[in-house]
Amino acid sequence: MLFSELPLKADLLKGVEALGFTKPTPVQEESIPMLINEDRDLIGLAQTGTGKTAAFGLPMIHRIDVKKNIVQGLVIAPTRELCVQISNDFKAFSKYIKGLSVATIYGGASMDKQSKEIRSGAQIVVATPGRLMDMMKRRMIKINHVSYVVLDEADEMLNMGFKEDIDGILEHTPEEKSTWLFSATMPKEVAKISKSYMSNPLEITVGHKNVGAENIEHVYYNVNERDRYKAVKRILDFNPNIYGLIFCRTRRTTQEVADKLLKEGYSAAPLHGDLSQMQRDKAMEKFRDKTIQVLVATDVAARGIDVNNISHVINYHLPDESESYTHRSGRTARAGNKGVSIAIVSNRDQNKISQIERKVKIKFDQGKLPSGKEICEQQLIGYVNKIKNISIDNDEISKLTPSISESLSEFSKEDLIKRMIAIEFEQLLKYYENSREISSDKGKKGSRISNEDHQRFFINLGHNKGLNKGGLLRLICSNTNLPAKSVGSLDLYNDFSFFEVDKSLSDKILEDLKDKEYDDKSFVVEIASNDGGKKRGGRDRNRGGDKDRNRGGDRRNRDRNRGRRR
Ligand code: AMP
Repeated sequence: MLFSELPLKADLLKGVEALGFTKPTPVQEESIPMLINEDRDLIGLAQTGTGKTAAFGLPMIHRIDVKKNIVQGLVIAPTRELCVQISNDFKAFSKYIKGLSVATIYGGASMDKQSKEIRSGAQIVVATPGRLMDMMKRRMIKINHVSYVVLDEADEMLNMGFKEDIDGILEHTPEEKSTWLFSATMPKEVAKISKSYMSNPLEITVGHKNVGAENIEHVYYNVNERDRYKAVKRILDFNPNIYGLIFCRTRRTTQEVADKLLKEGYSAAPLHGDLSQMQRDKAMEKFRDKTIQVLVATDVAARGIDVNNISHVINYHLPDESESYTHRSGRTARAGNKGVSIAIVSNRDQNKISQIERKVKIKFDQGKLPSGKEICEQQLIGYVNKIKNISIDNDEISKLTPSISESLSEFSKEDLIKRMIAIEFEQLLKYYENSREISSDKGKKGSRISNEDHQRFFINLGHNKGLNKGGLLRLICSNTNLPAKSVGSLDLYNDFSFFEVDKSLSDKILEDLKDKEYDDKSFVVEIASNDGGKKRGGRDRNRGGDKDRNRGGDRRNRDRNRGRRR
């Protein structure tokens, strides 16, 4: 079926076609013909991204009497962002319809301005429940002539505690009206609303009830609690073109994760309720226009996010409610695209995976986080492809090439390639050089040294010889000529110490530190035994032999990331 075959008013069709819509989506195909012709209540079980805005918007606009300047259509949606989105869609659909006006009302903005919009004769009002209730109480809006009411994302509105406001609003609408309720899921509370306020509603289900969108791939990674953040970094590094949302459970974690990512040069921003409306708007704007690649958000703040082309949704922590998982993952794979929804789980929340699988009726694949080597390869491939595919149509560049060729003439092609890669990837390669595999400790109880690629050494010098970490590092590096970055964790005790280096350097360490002196006295270096420090009387903990720390948020790193922004 084509839009042109639907009995929509010609001017409305023109607006739809100007948007490039030719074929109605399944939910539109089911709802539009019915809602145009019949005064009927409707329940649409549809995820966001299925085209539901047009499914209720086109019939509503079609049926509005533009000659009457009273509110005839009311759309209630949970958040400001969603209201703005719906309103913009409506304005685009009705671009060629003379005399049709849409007002948008939501909290955190001037009520007077919004009231003016209504007074100037808006026939359709798109509103958040709280602000609408407020304005009704102040008699700034009358809804007693409304013929069509849409409750969009009804489950979200109830989750957000808008039940009373919705009741209050619906009680002020006339008995004779059509109510169209859209919801991604059908919890009991939504069913209750439909029972109380709708009569004999037609039920449309796009996909299955409570089922995640079909073109979403669900993957989980099992990691230790302490590795959650590192896991996220690996996902981001492995997907340099990611355009994603990271969901955290609390505002605090949201801010912390965003801060860390920003500090380390990722293109990210936080979005949560502790930020001012202006800060939130700014973050959303940057995300929408792709100035930033990753938005770190709480569920509440992310409710209105209605952005296409989100490639990944990352659950930093899984939500408590399985239904929230549907909402989170439904932010990707919109408008027919594919998407990935990733859950990072530790042993503690592992059981949630099967719970969600059961309730939401999806299947998770267990993934293995990419290794440092795989990440570097992936980034290099991306970089090489970028070089191959870039089109150079800038005259200025051509003008500069002779002098640049001249000044680089001493380098061979191989040399130049190495240098380019060093500039672009030095930080990343260093960071992942000795990185360990990130996965849960489950079943690995025997392993004392967390980093499987590292070798731990014992040295019979400690604090009582006046050594501190820096001194020990200098001692190792000056005798071996190794850079400081090749030494992992350093654990100093009174009489002895431990240090780690990559296994491949073991022989070199033993050889170069043999028969050497410190403070005019000889010392001994040995490979630490498996039960290592304990035997030697220390509480040998492998405290954070964690190269991941070293990456830091320096400028070079930021520049690298800037370079890979799309
Ligand atoms: P919605 O579920 O209403 O948020 O729509 C998701 C996205 O799909 C929006 O960006 C719409 O502009 C787009 N869309 C909706 N209906 C169609 C259609 N029939 N053809 C192409 N794109 C559509």
